[in-house]
Amino acid sequence: MTEEEQRYLVEHDAHDFGALLDRWRVLMRPCCLSEHTLSDQQGHPVVAYVTERFDRTARRGASENVYLCAGVHGDEPAGVWGLLEWAETHAERLRGLPAAIFPCFNPWGLIHNRRHDEADRDLNRLFHLDEVPAIRGWREVVGDAGFRLALHLHEDYDARGIYLYELSELSADIGERSLAATEAIIPREPRPEVDGSPFENGLLRRGDDLERVVSEELGGGYPEAIWMYLKHAQAALTFETPSEYSLWRRVRAQSRFIEAALAAAEIG
Ligand SMILES: [Zn+2]
Repeated sequence: MTEEEQRYLVEHDAHDFGALLDRWRVLMRPCCLSEHTLSDQQGHPVVAYVTERFDRTARRGASENVYLCAGVHGDEPAGVWGLLEWAETHAERLRGLPAAIFPCFNPWGLIHNRRHDEADRDLNRLFHLDEVPAIRGWREVVGDAGFRLALHLHEDYDARGIYLYELSELSADIGERSLAATEAIIPREPRPEVDGSPFENGLLRRGDDLERVVSEELGGGYPEAIWMYLKHAQAALTFETPSEYSLWRRVRAQSRFIEAALAAAEIG
């Protein structure tokens, strides 16, 4: 273990939502971000940030917008901190991007280390429902906007390496290129099957039968990535780091993945 890693692990704030929000707010001025509150989870705000260049009028297929979301599942902290650290180290770049950012979609879950929200809901099966306050607030920010690329940052406690669900109609091989750029930090998931789905070298490409996947495999509940791909985004990548690895490595991998995916999708 390096000294840097050891220091990080001794001092980390993985479940300190207040510290996370403070650091995002420091970025608001240098990155020209405006903050929107989507809902409130027992006193903890679900917030979104949009850059000045974010274009709500751009439609799917003709949009350069970028969508970045972490922490839909509260017990998956590396995405939340990886997204923040990516923004902190690429502040100028972020300022120039048309972007909508959801830095921690389930703050109650992050604080309590729970997958579900304060009402015991898996938010990642509810993106079709307006009656959930966070989703209703989310729709007010996203509107009918199109996006070129959406990144959904997750973790998996069963995983042995990084892996990715790719939904994409872009010609570039963005999933494979993003994994290739990240595997030096954490190797790819070696198993050919994850959660009952067939993976090849850490990658599962889907796209044709999403309505069947939702109705037969997910009980009719729409995950964020599938909803985004069907309604808003030309590409939606769900990236997973293995929860049993060092938090330091997982955060590094999440940040590297974001940069690699933007480059692969030729954004910025
Ligand atoms: Zn998750």
